[in-house]
Amino acid sequence: MRIGVLTSGGDAPGMNAAIRAVVRCAIASGDQVFGVYDGYKGLIEGKIEELSRKDVSEILNKGGTILGTARLPEFKFEQVRMLAVKQLEKHDIDALICIGGDGTYTGALRLHEMGIKTIGIPGTIDNDIASSSRTIGFSTALNTACDAIDKLRDTSSSHQRCSIIEVMGRHCEDLALFSGICCGAEYVITPDTGLDKEKLLADLKKNRLAGRRHAIVVISENICDVHQLAKEVEEYSGYECRATVLGYVQRGGSPTPEDRLLAARLGKYAVDLLHEDITGVAVGIHHNKLINTPIEEALQMKYEPNKELHELVKKIS
Ligand code: ADP
Repeated sequence: MRIGVLTSGGDAPGMNAAIRAVVRCAIASGDQVFGVYDGYKGLIEGKIEELSRKDVSEILNKGGTILGTARLPEFKFEQVRMLAVKQLEKHDIDALICIGGDGTYTGALRLHEMGIKTIGIPGTIDNDIASSSRTIGFSTALNTACDAIDKLRDTSSSHQRCSIIEVMGRHCEDLALFSGICCGAEYVITPDTGLDKEKLLADLKKNRLAGRRHAIVVISENICDVHQLAKEVEEYSGYECRATVLGYVQRGGSPTPEDRLLAARLGKYAVDLLHEDITGVAVGIHHNKLINTPIEEALQMKYEPNKELHELVKKIS
C-alpha cells in the first residue's frame, strides 16, 4: 500500500512517536509511507513527500510534530476537499492516517465519505476524544501542569498566597481534575463541577481565618476570567491572590513514556487495520485494549464525568 500520514489541529507531544510507528510498521510490512506536511492545508497544496525509516529517526523524544500542523477551516467545503482527493490520486495514495483531535476526525470522516480510506489517531493534550480513554499528549500535558502547579505551590506557601491556575482541556475536565488531585489542590473547578463563586470565596475566607498558609485553585480554561477571579478572591478572602494561565506551555515538551507507548501502539494498530481493509474508523484504547470505532460514532460519543474522581476530590482537598 501507499499510505499517507498527517497531523492536524492542535499539536500534542507524542505525535512524532505516532508518525514514527506508522512509518516503521508500514515499511516493515512492505508498504510505502508519504508524509503530508501542515495538515489538510498541506494536503490540498500537495506538500507530500515519501518518508523512509531514517526520516523518522531521533524524533521519538521530540515534542511537536515533524510534519507540522495547520488549520484550514475551508476544509468543510466539498470543493476544497476535492483538491485533497485530487492530490491523493496524483500521488497514488491508497489510504490516509490522520492524527489529531475531533476537528481532524471530522475532516477524515468527510474524506472517507468521498471514497478515501481514512483512519483517525487521537492526538490531543485535552483527552477529549470519548472513543479512547486516553489521547496521545495527555500524559505529557498532565506532567507539565503538575510540575508547574507544584512550583506555584512552593511560592504560594512562602508568601501565604492563593494561587489560581488555569489549565487547558477545552471542554474536557480531565487535565484540571487529574492535575488538581495529583498536586493536592484545595479547589478543582471544571466544566463538570461548575464554578460556585460565592462558595469558593466564602471557603477561602474561612481557610484564611483558620490560618491556612496558602490555597491552590486549579480551574479548567473557558470557565471565567481567572485574573478577575483573583481580584475578587483578594478583595474578599484576605489572601493575596495571583492567577496563572499555563497556556501553550502545556502543548510542548518531550513526550512521557506513557504517551510514547500509546502512540507506538496506536500507530501500528492503524497500519494493521488498513491491511485488514478496515477504514473510516478512529483507533483508541479502552481497558488497555486497542479498539476501533467508526469515526462518525466516535464524534458523537459523549464524555462521561468521572464520578469516582469527583468524590475523591471532594474528600481529599
Ligand atoms: P483538532 O483536530 O485538534 O480538533 P481543529 O478543530 O482545529 O483541531 O481541526 C483541525 C482541522 O480539521 C481544521 O483546521 C480543518 O481543516 C479540519 N476540520 C475541522 N472541522 C471540519 C469539518 N467540519 N469539516 C471538514 N474538516 C474539518
